[in-house]
Amino acid sequence: MLKQAYDPARFRDLGHQLVDQLADYLKQAQAGQAMNVLPYPDPDAERHFWQRHWAEGTDANLPALWQTVLDRSHHLHHPHYVGHQVSVPAMEPVLTSMLTALLNNGMAVYEMGPVASALEQLIMREVGLGLGYGDSCEGIMTSGGTLANLTALLCARKHIPAADVWQTGTDQQYCLFVSAQAHYCVDRAVRIMGWGADGIIKVPVDEQFRMRTDLLPEMIATARAEGKIAIAVVGSACSTATGSYDDLAAIAEVAQAQGLWFHVDGAHGAAAAFSEQFGPLVAGIELADSVTLDFHKMMTVPALATGLVFKEGRTSYRTFAQEASYLWAEQEEPEWFNFGKRTFECTKRMVSVQVYSLLYTYGFKVVKELVDKTYQLARDFAALINKEPDFELAIEPQANIVCFRYQTAGVSGEKRDTLNRRIREAVLRQEQFYLVQTQLPQGLFLRTTLMHPFTEIKHLKRLLDQIRQLGETLLYEPSLHNV
Ligand SMILES: *Cc1c(COP(=O)(O)O)cnc(C)c1O
Repeated sequence: MLKQAYDPARFRDLGHQLVDQLADYLKQAQAGQAMNVLPYPDPDAERHFWQRHWAEGTDANLPALWQTVLDRSHHLHHPHYVGHQVSVPAMEPVLTSMLTALLNNGMAVYEMGPVASALEQLIMREVGLGLGYGDSCEGIMTSGGTLANLTALLCARKHIPAADVWQTGTDQQYCLFVSAQAHYCVDRAVRIMGWGADGIIKVPVDEQFRMRTDLLPEMIATARAEGKIAIAVVGSACSTATGSYDDLAAIAEVAQAQGLWFHVDGAHGAAAAFSEQFGPLVAGIELADSVTLDFHKMMTVPALATGLVFKEGRTSYRTFAQEASYLWAEQEEPEWFNFGKRTFECTKRMVSVQVYSLLYTYGFKVVKELVDKTYQLARDFAALINKEPDFELAIEPQANIVCFRYQTAGVSGEKRDTLNRRIREAVLRQEQFYLVQTQLPQGLFLRTTLMHPFTEIKHLKRLLDQIRQLGETLLYEPSLHNV
């Protein structure tokens, strides 16, 4: 068995078959006609399918297995994929991921991954410079924006002199400030750090769902008066639900005046920095102490691939001050090449090589093109929605996220929420489009994130037609009127 599992001739043969299969798949998915975007069996049906598959035993036909996985998966390369903020992967990082998976250079220490370590350093500096940082910036790559935000906040905590929780533990109450619309992972990070519910102070938002920075100084003063130790302010660039960009320059000013760490959660939208047209959305990002940015969102790299950049690279070495004598001698020695000192992960995938394959081919211009295309499409889609009396836009989009709802005379409040929820379910079941929903203060909205470089306004017109049809039908279901 082991001989077969490592046989180069078999690898060559199967590898060619796989690439052929994927190229055919890609062509079909992008054309978007012959397949549904999301085959949607119920979770239990899918589980039973695989239980049967396993129980039936194997004829070891890998191409058949691959085809089954392709057929039953969610097709992000379909232009009707307008759901969550996951990239539609470009071919360079995808192909390179086969190379790096085979090499499997583990990366915690330089010796385990020389190429990936050097490229990680190079790319994160280029990203930092692209955001407007000076020469002392440095960064790391990690597994997802959630972990990057936690890492940044651990570093922030270390930065405040009163707070050496890492060494001594604490019975004090720490806190940070973040908009009420921030991604839930900031809340989670606070609780993981042991600050509890009182450790996250949610700043109200304005009608564009941006942090009310005018309230910040007083909220900080209040927290301090209550005996809390303020650590950081987290800006969203952009928020997840509506794609709203906080005023980063305004937050920076307050954070600096108050001696707080300023972290930007730019997992989705920091990529706007690479576009001249949409760059102003992140004005002030270069004033942040740290920025999270997902390569697997607006930068066409498959998950997980996230960058965390520090304005002052040296601060990043403080995060995990801990001895691991079998890996390195001195933890706080700023050795740029031993990435395990600065990341949560020990073993890590060679993600930098995938990112490099993209940047080597196109430079950051490919990011600019995707941002320009999808952010503009969101504006066009919003204009279309504004023209339709039976649709309502939540807010004018700032990023490529559009929230809207179906509305019709005599249906409001809870009934309208239920109607839109049922529409979303029905869209899912019809398998022609994939979109999501979000709860905003004024009710439930349908939500699209336009991630696909080839989604056009004609596809979105089709989506509105489908929703209208469903809305008109579901409106007359008696159960709607019993809610
Ligand atoms: C997606 C997202 C996250 C979470 O990142 P993962 O890579 O999914 O862990 C955090 N914050 C924002 C603003 C996001 O858009």
